[in-house]
Amino acid sequence: MHRFFTNDIQTGRAVVRGDDVKHIAKVLRLKRGDAVQLCDGRGNECDATVSEILSDAVTFETAPWRRANSEPDVSITLFQCLPKAGKMETIIQKCVELGACAFVPVQSERCVVVLKPPYEGRIERWQRVSEEAAKQSRRGVIPKVSLPVALDKLDLAPFDTALVAYENEHAVSLKAALREGAGKRIAIVIGPEGGFSEAEIAKLSAKGARAVTLGTRILRTETAGMAMTAQILYEVEP
Ligand code: SAH
Repeated sequence: MHRFFTNDIQTGRAVVRGDDVKHIAKVLRLKRGDAVQLCDGRGNECDATVSEILSDAVTFETAPWRRANSEPDVSITLFQCLPKAGKMETIIQKCVELGACAFVPVQSERCVVVLKPPYEGRIERWQRVSEEAAKQSRRGVIPKVSLPVALDKLDLAPFDTALVAYENEHAVSLKAALREGAGKRIAIVIGPEGGFSEAEIAKLSAKGARAVTLGTRILRTETAGMAMTAQILYEVEP
């Protein structure tokens, strides 16, 4: 079943605009009466049928809205230090499928890539990757990709738990840290290809992040966020 996001919603009716219109009309060739699912991007979804296809908008008749059951109980924000070209797309796509709720690209000491302003083009592209992955995996929200921040400026205060994956941490496992009680808002911080310096780990600790090991094998930066997201949800979901 095809799924579209919209926030143009009235009683019994909703409208989809933008790039999806061409996709609906020309690629999927949907017709009046065809069934789809709509999602408001805030965790609600409904069954709907096409009622009218115009050049710039598709109107749907909507059945009653319900809470999407695909959203996890805990919200994971991935603070990902900028990886080499192209990897961020993979990280966002896979972590959206797995259930991450937000992404913050982070500039750290050992990042090979240095993002220069204006950031908007790049962020828009990553946001589109998030939206495509959210549709495909039937998420109830489109995880937001924020503007990049310097590691020094990370704000971890809004989170119940902040965990930094650090391969030189040998004592505290992810499982052990989660079993002490993680709360609902979890931040995870992943280093770039070259990892974190000790000074960076100290700074993150001072902001309240706890260093955890993901095991005895060293994962690539693009694997670490996916593994951590999957492991956290496995541990905390009922
Ligand atoms: N350059 C480092 C590895 C960096 S791996 C080295 O060769 O030793 C990239 C990032 O993935 C790390 O900064 C860390 O956040 C995460 N990571 C990879 N493997 C990990 C592990 N076993 N435990 C915790 N974090 C890990």
